[in-house]
Amino acid sequence: MAGRPGAGQNGAVSPSVEVLNSRLAKVLATLGPSTDPPGILEAMVDVGLDGGRINCAHGTPEEWRMRARALREAGARAGRAVSLLVDLAGPKARLGDVVERQVAQGEEIAFAPAGIDGGDALPTSWPDLVGAVTPGRSQIVIGDGTPRFAALREDPERPGVVVGTCVRAGGLAAKKGFVVTFAETDLPALTEKDMADLRTAVELGADYVALSFVNDEADVRSLRGALTAKGSDARVVAKIEKLPAVESLDSIVAVSDAVMVARGDLGVEAGVARVPELQKAIISAARARGKLVITATQMLESMIHSAEPTRAEAADIANAVFDGTSTLMLSAETTIGDFPIEAVDAMAEIAAAAEQGLGPREQEALHSGRSAAVIETAVQLAERVGAAAIAMPTETGSSVREAARHRPRRPVVAVTESDRVAQQLALEWGVVPIVSQERPQDTDDLVAQLLAAVERSLGLPSGTPVVLVYGPTGAGAGQTNLIVVREVGDTPVWEDWVV
Ligand code: PGA
Ligand code: MN
Repeated sequence: MAGRPGAGQNGAVSPSVEVLNSRLAKVLATLGPSTDPPGILEAMVDVGLDGGRINCAHGTPEEWRMRARALREAGARAGRAVSLLVDLAGPKARLGDVVERQVAQGEEIAFAPAGIDGGDALPTSWPDLVGAVTPGRSQIVIGDGTPRFAALREDPERPGVVVGTCVRAGGLAAKKGFVVTFAETDLPALTEKDMADLRTAVELGADYVALSFVNDEADVRSLRGALTAKGSDARVVAKIEKLPAVESLDSIVAVSDAVMVARGDLGVEAGVARVPELQKAIISAARARGKLVITATQMLESMIHSAEPTRAEAADIANAVFDGTSTLMLSAETTIGDFPIEAVDAMAEIAAAAEQGLGPREQEALHSGRSAAVIETAVQLAERVGAAAIAMPTETGSSVREAARHRPRRPVVAVTESDRVAQQLALEWGVVPIVSQERPQDTDDLVAQLLAAVERSLGLPSGTPVVLVYGPTGAGAGQTNLIVVREVGDTPVWEDWVV
């Protein structure tokens, strides 16, 4: 802790960001066969895992139940709030029983909609293919990007059948997923399977529920409606992986609690080259509205089979942190990879190192509302006085999310009575959730509780300055209007003020 500029020096003003040996960006790992053996999840939590994701595109409800339970147990064992995110597979179009073969560039292939016998046309699960195609713009892309078909047109002899010309060679196989780019989809946002999986998600007490292949805000609303109807207050994540979603980004962000930069399918649809630019646009749209943002897919792809990441992967993770992501996600690295613990460890280490390279926060415009302005000021003040942490009480988590949106350069210790709120906050940038059932009687009590929480959770030495932000005790959410600079270890509440 030596050499922390500004710490403990009365009145010292320091723009330093070298605050603590603590990571701000969060790590979310997809659970799967590789995380199932006893001890693995515990070890992942020990090296820094903040949340687990269940991907409903794979596995059975029995497996998800077992994994959700194991995640909760690992969190409880470590004494940390750990988030559970259930990811609904959404409407994914698939080829039918086609014969496996290679398609060459220039070759013409016909695709038949669901339920129509198109002769030698490839059967698909898409009900209205012709209606989905935006002429001149849409392409059909199979699997992870090849083969790819352009110049889509309806076959004059076979109504409903779409013919395309192969512009990138690749292999066809039965049941492969495909996308129609720029599709005005006629697939329902939530399929029957999604509705069944959503019931399981609610049963498992998911803190977050994500929806794949979101087109627009209506899709997000239908997910939220379905959750509310089942009595769940799970936070809603819109996965941005289609071009129509990119085009409606701001309105989707507005109605979502969080978004995911789903780079896998986004790369299929938009082309790999556009992924970095779209990642920046999505993260920036989320931050502008103070929403959590998860960056996902192939972040440590080489670690599926290697214990060490590549330099390019380290740079990718660091850049997601520089872009302002809240959370970094692991997929195949932890579901089927050989090194799930090492992957979490590497991701956490790279993120923490990248955070050391972040410059001082940029000055941002004040947001509407008094408590939002107070919270932003507290984040700025923490930087000005070289505070090692910010601490705040929260009922619903909203004031803490307001702090996290500014991507503070030090941890935000959030004290809440609710396990649920703590689990949801576990994925927010810089937030260290602490559950405490103590009800402070007055402001002195509250300050003491916040200082104790900082001391306990971060192990800061006495004399370390911290910024506390709160409202009058018992005032409830949205009443934040007090900022106090204190030092860890000094108890009499108003001593600072006695000259
Ligand atoms: P998936 O979503 O892993 O569910 O496909 C993420 C992505 O497409 O990147
Ligand atoms: Mn996807």
